Amino acid sequence: MITEPPQPTRAHRVVIVGAGFGGLETTYRLAGAPVSITLVDRRNHHLFQPLLYQVATASLATSEIAWPIRYLLRGRQEVTTLFATVAGVDATAKRVLLDDGDTLAYDTLVLATGARHAYFGHDEWEPFAPGLKTLEDATTLRRRILVAFERAERESDPARRAALMTFVIVGAGPTGVELAGTIAELAQDTLPPDFRNIDTHKARVVLIEAGPRVLAGFADDLSAYAQASLQSIGVEVVLGQSVTECNADGVVYGGQTLQAKTLIWAAGVRASPAAEWLGASADRAGRLQVEPDLTVSDHPDIFAIGDTVVVNGPDGKPVPGIAPAAKQQGRYVAETIKARLRGETLGPFRYKHAGSLAQIGKRKAVIDFGRFKLSGALAWWIWGIAHIYFLIGLRNRLQVAISWLWIHARDQRAARLITQGSSKVAGPAPTKDPA
Ligand SMILES: Cc1cc2nc3c(=O)[nH]c(=O)nc-3n(C[C@H](O)[C@H](O)[C@H](O)COP(=O)(O)OP(=O)(O)OC[C@H]3O[C@@H](n4cnc5c(N)ncnc54)[C@H](O)[C@@H]3O)c2cc1C
Repeated sequence: MITEPPQPTRAHRVVIVGAGFGGLETTYRLAGAPVSITLVDRRNHHLFQPLLYQVATASLATSEIAWPIRYLLRGRQEVTTLFATVAGVDATAKRVLLDDGDTLAYDTLVLATGARHAYFGHDEWEPFAPGLKTLEDATTLRRRILVAFERAERESDPARRAALMTFVIVGAGPTGVELAGTIAELAQDTLPPDFRNIDTHKARVVLIEAGPRVLAGFADDLSAYAQASLQSIGVEVVLGQSVTECNADGVVYGGQTLQAKTLIWAAGVRASPAAEWLGASADRAGRLQVEPDLTVSDHPDIFAIGDTVVVNGPDGKPVPGIAPAAKQQGRYVAETIKARLRGETLGPFRYKHAGSLAQIGKRKAVIDFGRFKLSGALAWWIWGIAHIYFLIGLRNRLQVAISWLWIHARDQRAARLITQGSSKVAGPAPTKDPA
């Protein structure tokens, strides 16, 4: 009797959408598991978002905070990286739908598609007050900030020049605070010797926050310290005021208009449409409400993690939308997939909050580790070492460390490049000769 040779069993197919902090961590932690992984991202790079504001403010170059995903996973034969945009999920057919009509079959799906900035129902403000989420956002902001100084250099009308040299940041969370502090230092320390017709010391940096304090997620005393530190480097802090309009001339808050040519939005986020793809319930920010084991209700084969979901931590409060939370969730999902393949189950996801950090200018930071709190120069060094540690690769760590030491010692920001267009695209030329 002739017997058929045994068919090789097909590896369990895991599709991971999003190679941000959550998706990449899941991929890393599945190493060695009997799975084949397809990692899909609409960008070809993994981005270290916590340092995006440094690209926007000309402190770091784009390549210092982003890495090609394909390169990061080049040694993992079981991982296929796809540069593609996901447009939906057919949970019945167990397929991921791409925007070009292709589909990807999965046994287990992990959605880690993050979030974007949100304008509280005023999307029409976005062209005037762009947010910061991608490398393109960062280089666009860098361009706007540098072009504003260039145009001010050629502007003779005092009111128009003042508007060009006024920078408004909406939202005083860590990103708003970090942007405000760095733009102030750019104007105070880096740019003054470069210009002839304007005194960049006179630039106004205005940070507007609807809540009663800056860095609301930090302890009260650290918020107060951050506010005083910002004010000491010339940032005007406006608290308890909601912005009611953003347009080409400036921003309206508290019934008054502030003329400003550069507005930056750092006030709110909205989750990716993962919940819509699945018809699953979501909170007001569009975050998919997942089960305690991070699966989607009624879909035990679909996990969702990171900024695109809402899940409560052990204290009953929602897990914050920060990188360590996304990584912890990615790690948990990888462990759960491995356990399931062994026929085991794991307990629910438990978030451990390690702490919060924010930089205020080049020499100060605040650190809130719960019982341990720190502010000032030592906090800045800890902030810097922590961020360098979390960067990928020795070359980037060295490059960033050198860039920061250079800024620290010489006030020089090397990435002061206006890209994406010539002076013609920069906006209308001033009508009068420079003063
Ligand atoms: C300016 C800024 C500063 C921040 N600073 C800090 C900080 O100091 N400390 C901190 O802990 N956290 C910080 N965060 C938050 C932190 O970056 C996020 O919490 C973290 O990135 C969330 O990880 P994630 O994997 O959920 O999403 P992300 O890291 O955003 O990754 C999502 C990925 O999904 C991809 N994607 C999205 N939609 C699709 C689609 N339809 N198809 C294919 N791919 C898709 C995206 O391209 C992206 O690569 C900051 C965020 C920003 C924007």
